[in-house]
Amino acid sequence: MTPTLLADRLKRIQPSPSVQANDRVATLRAEGKDIINFTIGEPDFDTPAHIIDAAVTAMKQGDTHYTPSEGTPALRQAIVEKLARDNALEYHYDEIVVGAGGKHILYHVMAATLNPGDEVIVPAPYWVSYPDIALLNEGVPRVVTCDASCGFKLTPQALIEAITDKTRWLVLNTPSNPTGAVYAESELLALAQVLRDYPHVGIISDEIYEHFVYAPARHLSLINVAPDLKSRTLIVNGASKGYAMTGWRIGFGAGPRDLIQAIVKLISQTTTCPSSISQAGAVAAFIGDQAPVRAMAERYTQRRQLMLEGLQSIAGVNCTAPDGAFYVYLDVSGLLGKTTPGGQRLMRDGDVVLYWLDAGVAAVSGEAYGLSPYVRLSFAIGDEAIQEGCRRLREACLALT
Ligand code: PMP
Repeated sequence: MTPTLLADRLKRIQPSPSVQANDRVATLRAEGKDIINFTIGEPDFDTPAHIIDAAVTAMKQGDTHYTPSEGTPALRQAIVEKLARDNALEYHYDEIVVGAGGKHILYHVMAATLNPGDEVIVPAPYWVSYPDIALLNEGVPRVVTCDASCGFKLTPQALIEAITDKTRWLVLNTPSNPTGAVYAESELLALAQVLRDYPHVGIISDEIYEHFVYAPARHLSLINVAPDLKSRTLIVNGASKGYAMTGWRIGFGAGPRDLIQAIVKLISQTTTCPSSISQAGAVAAFIGDQAPVRAMAERYTQRRQLMLEGLQSIAGVNCTAPDGAFYVYLDVSGLLGKTTPGGQRLMRDGDVVLYWLDAGVAAVSGEAYGLSPYVRLSFAIGDEAIQEGCRRLREACLALT
């Protein structure tokens, strides 16, 4: 036996299932297979031109060096302006830290604050990285199942039952990946009421999909309705989704100064700072022309409609219309127990996903997000792909007996 070089902490986590699903599509396509890829967790649009221009100018002007670990003053100020404009929230620029993506901020906040055994409340279905980031940092994810009956959202009662003396954080994600659930004002007020009774619980409010919300739903941050919780809330957001900038790796945290300083201290010893060039682009994103964001939101609204229409007539699946983000979380319980033309019985949502892959459609199973039997489909793909994908799904489901 070769002695392993790997740390025990690595055994606690899985590779990101959505990244893996996407990799599998790339492999199949390289083998010549025709796959409609509904696994994509990022906008398919190009980054708006004025953002690219700002980055090019920055490079030409010599903005190619390390920046402060917390981000450039210009970008932190741009984020302050963005928070005031989009979110009606008042922050000072030293309450902002910029990271290499929202994920980077989430990792650093947990690394900076969790002691072994500290608990992180993660409502399920959850974005795959929350539990694993907690586990990597010796935290204990406390997964709370939020099923379709409550719109996949955390209820005040479920929150009360999940809080213990060891709770360090509640992670709230609105709009949600993978379900598209958006917390309404009344729901946030009710959660805030519970949180007031537990001052030791901090709130991580992941708002990365804020720009993609479908009327009549609207995006609100917990602290819009409960400003008294601002002193123990970290907002996590970034440029990836709203501005189609996933590859630029820019995210930010907005929160109390001492927490921000702790995260900055850690970043100074890990990545030093985010890319100077990406930061210059992000300034243009956050305070430049917002018309491209609105145009992308409009396209997602249309695609969501196409997707809902395409899925409607498929036997055995049940789809709740998402209020936000660009995913549908499809109930596939009606397919379980059925048999494929190849003679395989579908027992789990993972089996459904594999069967659909044979039919030329890739998606991610609900198992990855902590609530089964569901399948997540992304509509951040072209209109024709959505229609063709739904056609293939319809045929594949019809062929089951
Ligand atoms: N939060 C959620 C809910 C996400 O879906 C993602 C990306 N998939 C992120 C955070 C992180 O995005 P990034 O690191 O690109 O900012």
